[in-house]
Amino acid sequence: MKNKLSRNIFITIMLFVVFIITIIDLSKIASDEQTQLIGLSPQTSRQMMGYIIKTKKGKTIIIDGGTTNDAENLMKYINKYNKKVDYWFITHAHDDHAGAFIEIANNTDVKINNIYISLNEYEWYEKNEPDRAEFTQKLIEIINSQKINRNVHAPKLNEKIKIDNIEAKILGIRNPELIENPGNEQSMVIKFDTGKETLLILGDTGEKSSQKLLETQKENLKSDIVQMSHHGQQGATKELYEVVEPRICLWPTPQWLWDNNIGSGKDSGPWKTLETRKWIRELNVEENYIAKDGDFIINLK
Ligand SMILES: [Zn+2]
Repeated sequence: MKNKLSRNIFITIMLFVVFIITIIDLSKIASDEQTQLIGLSPQTSRQMMGYIIKTKKGKTIIIDGGTTNDAENLMKYINKYNKKVDYWFITHAHDDHAGAFIEIANNTDVKINNIYISLNEYEWYEKNEPDRAEFTQKLIEIINSQKINRNVHAPKLNEKIKIDNIEAKILGIRNPELIENPGNEQSMVIKFDTGKETLLILGDTGEKSSQKLLETQKENLKSDIVQMSHHGQQGATKELYEVVEPRICLWPTPQWLWDNNIGSGKDSGPWKTLETRKWIRELNVEENYIAKDGDFIINLK
């Protein structure tokens, strides 16, 4: 009788120990399993845009990445995430967005498993944006290269891409009919959804593509977090931000542009950043993350 009792006590204690070890282990996994959004800051005086999403199970998603000279900073994160990129979304063919991608794709052994980009034919860029056609040609060359080509996807409108705990929905692709402000109006618009929180990426969406989004995607635009279009200067319209109704704004904006300072002090430039900042204040946005202040990390819900 006494033996049986001590055996039962022993088993109970052992079960308790196993239970505690399991709890400790689970809490460790839970802290690793955090979806994170990382914002990159400009490494030169130029405007740029780059964001990274690390999913719950450690997949790496990059959105743009900045200029050639921002590649080194981006590489710090890529190296930390096992030197591989699972998904790379490039909003449009401008060097302040796609320069770092070209640099990394050409000159490193980083494995890029999926690239999403919505491009027109080269001739379109040559005709409508001749001063930037040389860069576009470089981008098209790497996209078509043997090293990369089989991993490139041309996204379809309303396509949904499931990446671990994230769903990426394509709300906008290239708009070849928009030839004023041509390059920016081709920006891919993507809504990332963790199931609990949403992030809207606008790239350099302009006035005409804002109107198009309001006409075709109005019910899908509301998002917790929004990337301010065209670096917070003349980009998306006030009406678009009113429909998005963001709680958090991400500004891919350097100091001079934040202040609209062309070199003679605040508001001496031609950009509309101060006006855009006013719109956002009026929308009672709770938090602003501005690239001028350095890289940042947001834990997503
Ligand atoms: Zn830009």
